[in-house]
Amino acid sequence: MQLKRFRVDGELAVVTGGGRGIGLACAEALGEAGARLVLIEPDEKSGEAGRDALRAKGYEAEALVGDVTSSARMNEIADMLAARGTPATILINNAGIGESGVPSENVTDDAWLRMMNVNVNGVFWCSRAFGRHMIAGRRGAIVNLGSMSGTICNRPQPQTPYNVSKAAVHHMTHSMAAEWAPHGVRVNAVAPTYIETPMVNANPANRDRIPIWLNDTPMGRMGQAEEVASAVLFLASDAASLMTGAVVPVDGGFTCW
Ligand code: NDP
Repeated sequence: MQLKRFRVDGELAVVTGGGRGIGLACAEALGEAGARLVLIEPDEKSGEAGRDALRAKGYEAEALVGDVTSSARMNEIADMLAARGTPATILINNAGIGESGVPSENVTDDAWLRMMNVNVNGVFWCSRAFGRHMIAGRRGAIVNLGSMSGTICNRPQPQTPYNVSKAAVHHMTHSMAAEWAPHGVRVNAVAPTYIETPMVNANPANRDRIPIWLNDTPMGRMGQAEEVASAVLFLASDAASLMTGAVVPVDGGFTCW
């Protein structure tokens, strides 16, 4: 009886930044649990690569070009899916950028605004665009990719813009959850530790930081994208039917210390 509640058969799930990393792992988990998938990526090739990987596993997947910083494009995609008769009932706000290592006194206006535009505005534009249709249909589940950085201050690398952007995502989760609960729309977030994805692996400066991160982590290791995806699937499914406004740590115990 309980396992059925983790299934999302027939739901249309939109995953922003779903072409790789945690987003692709979330799409795979949702596909395995029965959802049809729409990936939104700014780059056509990234979206198509993710879509093809999902189709190769037998899941129904489509890739759409879109940048989450464009509220007009997010509205257009949400409206287009609804006009087809299949409004999205699951939204995974995964797209994000993660620059670090610049002390606050040296952060440029452009770097600050770029971070807020993708990580905060993007989550709001998408939630609003898809949330309107969920409200109209009186059902939906939104899962935001927050971060433990929305709660703690990472060390040794300074990263105030990222930390602030994720704290905003956490409180957006609380605020929308409270507003939309009467409409049948749940809004939750996950707050992962360091996960081995291109975002973390592509930065050579992280090699010296990793021993410090692991020393700060009770489990003594980084996470894998699949370990975030399973928590996201849970929150997106009816298994989490009483949960809204939760920010669930997926952090190997990092925030215990
Ligand atoms: P990656 O950089 O590996 O993947 C991010 C994806 O988002 C890419 O496909 C990227 O596409 C896409 N993306 C970036 N900007 C936009 C945009 N403006 N519009 C649409 N898509 C966009 O990141 P992760 O998988 O590591 O991270 C995913 C989420 O999880 C992020 O929100 C991140 O902050 C969060 N997170 C990650 C952690 C980690 O340690 N990896 C820890 C905690 C949270 P492209 O590159 O083509 O622009």
